[in-house]
Amino acid sequence: MTPTHPPHDAEEDRFREECGVFGVWNHADAAALTALGLHALQHRGQEAAGIVTLAPGGVFHHHRGLGLVGDIFGDAKVIGALPGRAAVGHNRYATTGETALRNVQPLFADFAFGGFAVAHNGNLTNAATLRRELVRRGCLFQSSTDTEVLVHLIAISLYANVLDRLIDALRQVQGAYSLVALHQGGLIGVRDPLGVRPLVIGRLPHATAAPAWILASETCALDIVGAEFVRDVDPGEIVVIDDSGLRSIKPFEQQPRRFCIFEYIYFARPDSVVEGTGVYETRKRIGAELARESPVPADVVVPVPDSGVPAAMGYAAESGIPYELGIIRNHYVGRTFIEPTDQIRHLGVKLKHSANRATLNGRRVVLVDDSIVRGTTSRKIVEMVRNAGAAEVHMRISSPPTTHSCFYGIDTPSRRELLAAQHDVAEMARLIGADSLAFISLDGLYRALGRPGRDRAAPGFCDACFTGDYAIPLTDWPAEAAGRDPQAAS
Ligand code: AMP
Repeated sequence: MTPTHPPHDAEEDRFREECGVFGVWNHADAAALTALGLHALQHRGQEAAGIVTLAPGGVFHHHRGLGLVGDIFGDAKVIGALPGRAAVGHNRYATTGETALRNVQPLFADFAFGGFAVAHNGNLTNAATLRRELVRRGCLFQSSTDTEVLVHLIAISLYANVLDRLIDALRQVQGAYSLVALHQGGLIGVRDPLGVRPLVIGRLPHATAAPAWILASETCALDIVGAEFVRDVDPGEIVVIDDSGLRSIKPFEQQPRRFCIFEYIYFARPDSVVEGTGVYETRKRIGAELARESPVPADVVVPVPDSGVPAAMGYAAESGIPYELGIIRNHYVGRTFIEPTDQIRHLGVKLKHSANRATLNGRRVVLVDDSIVRGTTSRKIVEMVRNAGAAEVHMRISSPPTTHSCFYGIDTPSRRELLAAQHDVAEMARLIGADSLAFISLDGLYRALGRPGRDRAAPGFCDACFTGDYAIPLTDWPAEAAGRDPQAAS
């Protein structure tokens, strides 16, 4: 979910929407399981979290807070105040300035048919357009999130039951979305027709009673609660879970799959299995492919932890160059990327990483990271590695150059700030201070995912951040849709 303020005003040109969603049906500890699930999904958003539960009699309870899941839900009293056998939860990045509690999901609304809670991972690309129309028709918005547009569309739908209203609303929105929603009658999971964001189904068997059902962004959230993986929700599928079990509805026209390729590169947790493919193994294969494409004589392969670790292992194994921990990460600071200003981001990198002189001094180093966005991290790390005595620093990146912003739910800045949108690889190498720099090719990335290469007509993944091939209309961003960048320096 994303703020629906006019895109590209000074405050809102960043997209900070990496969210985790979780839902439970039919478990006595629904709130506690949800807190655990959100904790496992903490990497998808660290600034706020919320849980809504459904107690007998159709009574909903909620708790939302700013901060990490453990800080918000670590207190047994908080969980104790969330009774019920069903729950939905969400964790997210904050929006700008007012890290407002009113924007923290799950959103909740009381309709004529009863309460309805919804948690959203992704980003709607016509939300601002729809919102203007809804405001004109008299809708009063409580938050500045795109997800609330869905709530109003459900409210004004002329259909009688909640599912038909939801389908009616979804037919009007464009964008990437994985949703978990809760109402008196059941738990609902939805993936957008292209399946850009992940959503999985799990089950906790019960010896004497019906199983508990789980919906979660990633399988790592099933593992933490001991649930078995059932399957991914299909693109364009709505799953409805109630006391009679799970049923599937596919109300949308089938479209070619476009799962976010960046989930494999960076975003998903390495122990998750996404769309049948293990994230960890994929990252190692990308590293191996990178070693084949861009070899370099060197003494050690060093990952930028944690995101560069599996790719560096793959690179080392393929090249035969020893893998060493040359950078030590302090785990008690948040991701550098969250920090709102350049100054703080610089500080953040220093707080987070330090060089291990023992493995770097006098060595020719292959440094492996997953991506270069603004270049802040690479610049600092290369300098750090050199200061620790490295003889040469060769940077290898396990994604193609990030040349375009994501409008579908990953936090990327405007093109103006993307290093690869402004410079070629040689210039980038100079700017980050590396002796050489290479990115995996687009075809190499697809090969690591088991394809022969990128099929232009049907890539099977969303790779817009590397290609500018936006498969979902950018209705709220007409300039980008037309291939122009309104923010590019003239
Ligand atoms: P930068 O310092 O701006 O070049 O950002 C690159 C670093 O941020 C890499 O080390 C990535 O692991 C990490 N990164 C890439 N994309 C994201 C994202 N969407 N959110 C948070 N961190 C990211």
